[in-house]
Amino acid sequence: MPVPEVTPLRIGECRGPDFATRRGGALRMARFPAGAALIGLPDGRRVLFDTGYGRAFFDATRALPERAYRWTTPVRLDPHESLPKALGGQPPSLVILSHLHADHVAGLFDLDPTPPVLLSGDALARLGAMSRVQALKAGCPRLLRDRLLALPAQFFHDLPQAAPPPGFAGFGPVRDVTGQGDLLLVPLPGHGDDQHGLFLPRSSHGPLFLIADAAWSVEALRRDTPPPRWTLARLGDAAAYLATFAALRGLMRQRPEITLLPAHCPQALARKDKR
Ligand SMILES: [Zn+2]
Repeated sequence: MPVPEVTPLRIGECRGPDFATRRGGALRMARFPAGAALIGLPDGRRVLFDTGYGRAFFDATRALPERAYRWTTPVRLDPHESLPKALGGQPPSLVILSHLHADHVAGLFDLDPTPPVLLSGDALARLGAMSRVQALKAGCPRLLRDRLLALPAQFFHDLPQAAPPPGFAGFGPVRDVTGQGDLLLVPLPGHGDDQHGLFLPRSSHGPLFLIADAAWSVEALRRDTPPPRWTLARLGDAAAYLATFAALRGLMRQRPEITLLPAHCPQALARKDKR
């Protein structure tokens, strides 16, 4: 029986201090690839989970105060890594945004026409009520935020709930994207606002859980080295993040056959090209 074919994509990268992402990290700048995942469903539909960086990020951070985002987190997007290139010119039939940070949404606006989008309506409503500086602090510069607000999006909370798969009882309400049980949205609160991961009970990589920014790497989960609290508080809710992190570690123990794929995992998204 055919299963969803999953291709991890790398759509640009940013640099930031290593010690900000894991306890005991080094005093050096590290590279963090911006990941997305293309899911080819057996019926021919293509679903994209997150989008990485795109031109809209650079447009949205041209002026101050947004320009500060680029200074603190230098971003690089080589033309050959752009989302349309990575998709081979074939637009997806649906884009799911795990959360609304710029590095997960900006690539969307490089796709023409913009495909249907599924995201957290609650997070979008809160972002829409923010001032320019608040939106920047929330990781979504105003121009990007306004483009998101203008989309005819579908919302997570409108999808039917599904019974949690074995091992997922501790994660909050699971929602079924296709109605077939093959793409399940799972709340991963604590990073950003109303972050969700996507669980595929069956895929070309076996059972696969796309966990967005709930961990910076699988290694961090294995070693139980979450980011320091000051990073967590800056990017979301520290206590909720640590509870989600612990739930993911519990899932790894209970269901070791599941592959976890974080959005910025350097091992998972290693460059194939040499430079
Ligand atoms: Zn994020």
